[in-house]
Amino acid sequence: MLARELALQGASAVVLEKAPEPRTEPKANGLVGQIVELLHYRGLLDRFRPEAQFAGRVPAFTFGSVPLPLARLGDSPLQLLALPQPRLEALLTECAMERGVPIRRGCAVQGLAQDRDGVTVRLRGPVGEEHVRASYVVGCDGAHSTVRGLAGIEFPGTTKPDVTKIGHVTLPPEVVATDGNGLELPATGPLPLGWHHTDRGRIGVMSTRPGVHIVTVTENDPAGADPAAPLTLEELRSGVARVLGEDVPMTEAHWLSRVVNQSRLAARYRAGRVLLAGDAAHLFPAGGSSLNVGMTDAVNLGWKLAAVLRDGPGALLDTYHDERYPAAERTLAQTEGQAVMMASSEEAAALRELFAELVSHDAALRHIAELIHGSDIRHGQYGEHRADGQHGEGADADAHPLVGRLVPDLSFDAESGGPSGVAELLAEGRPVLLDLAGRTAVAEAGSRWAKRVEPVAARCAGAAPADALLIRPDGWVAWAPVPGETDAAVRAGLTRALRFWFGSPD
Ligand SMILES: Cc1cc2nc3c(=O)[nH]c(=O)nc-3n(C[C@H](O)[C@H](O)[C@H](O)COP(=O)(O)OP(=O)(O)OC[C@H]3O[C@@H](n4cnc5c(N)ncnc54)[C@H](O)[C@@H]3O)c2cc1C
Repeated sequence: MLARELALQGASAVVLEKAPEPRTEPKANGLVGQIVELLHYRGLLDRFRPEAQFAGRVPAFTFGSVPLPLARLGDSPLQLLALPQPRLEALLTECAMERGVPIRRGCAVQGLAQDRDGVTVRLRGPVGEEHVRASYVVGCDGAHSTVRGLAGIEFPGTTKPDVTKIGHVTLPPEVVATDGNGLELPATGPLPLGWHHTDRGRIGVMSTRPGVHIVTVTENDPAGADPAAPLTLEELRSGVARVLGEDVPMTEAHWLSRVVNQSRLAARYRAGRVLLAGDAAHLFPAGGSSLNVGMTDAVNLGWKLAAVLRDGPGALLDTYHDERYPAAERTLAQTEGQAVMMASSEEAAALRELFAELVSHDAALRHIAELIHGSDIRHGQYGEHRADGQHGEGADADAHPLVGRLVPDLSFDAESGGPSGVAELLAEGRPVLLDLAGRTAVAEAGSRWAKRVEPVAARCAGAAPADALLIRPDGWVAWAPVPGETDAAVRAGLTRALRFWFGSPD
């Protein structure tokens, strides 16, 4: 994702990947959250959709194993792309290569040396040891990140004691419910898809493709479990039997694994010319959010890194940590909460009951959905940076409510003959000054940056959220006038934001 983002911005990148061949482990079943909107804005959602089981606003989800009936809200705030990780990786690889990024497989990074002008990377590749020189290096090398270690970035946090056994398995037809929505067991009876707690542990049953069920089991007392040992079908089955009190026959295993959850967050996302993104920067103790946060890191970083390569160093690159660290912190908080709720204890059961009561209220349900989506946090308004080059922290309470948030998916009036909507404007990752009301002050201030920030005039198909929007290449709103703002204030505010995000005038 990051390689493609860099290529969109005209930066030259190379991917060094240790694995000689693409991975086949199923891992994630899909993406949930803002990244789905971002893929739409890059024109990738339509491309990925034919391979997905589901793409769009999701009518139901869970939080800490409590069902979230999102359809009740009418316009579910949570978006999902149900696409297995190996296909996602293959598609993203294709997308990066189409944009000219070389993907060098079988190249394990082993050393880094930073100096004033760049970084020298030492790698072991198919023909032995090699050195690669780059202006910047981004460690997207996962939980055990070599780059993070070499850059001396701490990765504080905890490893949870639970071990979850996961199997993608075939079940005999006699235990699969006829409507396909779960299992039908002789003693237990119906066991719907989802999570089930007993006083001995937790079981999860999901189905993401015909004929294959994902069965997970987490025992309260995982006697003698060695998280590093390969899991067998027999072990999975006996774990399920211990928790459920009934055997669930399983005829074939397509993938078996053990997962240990961790809560970790890199102390900083940047050490000089080395940056981190994805699992290298954060690990969450409950599923569903990792790719959302990790791939959004990439979209946040790509254009900033490219701008710094083009225009020279500045405060812009520091905003990557400033914006993405709090997003991971927030995700850590909500996944920690989920991990506690998912325990098989009386206390956790009480918490789940209370939580289910809370989400029976629409406002609470929407709040939780936005929390998972990642849209509940707002970036700081950096246009107000100080004379010493430092920027202010936190969104300005007086700013337009869209500032610091991902731009909504606006549609434009077809009669104007211009772009059809925001998604069309953002496909190539260019910044846009969207003039929605024809204000002279907007055009005047924007004209000085017109070569790097495309001015676009359009009329919203519905009510316009603001007279104008300054949209960054990653889709975040950098500036918008508040209603009633004078022309002088519009000129000053827009000029400050343009200067901060896009440098000196043309
Ligand atoms: C069972 C399971 C289910 C999951 N389900 C979900 C889900 O439903 N939704 C979700 O969002 N997330 C899910 N996740 C988490 C998700 O899979 C990870 O967050 C995601 O893979 C992280 O992507 P990444 O690119 O940051 O790191 P990784 O996927 O770990 O990729 C890192 C890459 O770096 C390479 N590498 C490592 N070291 C080096 C080196 N020294 N030199 C060169 N290359 C190197 C590796 O070979 C690897 O290809 C799940 C994880 C598991 C295990």
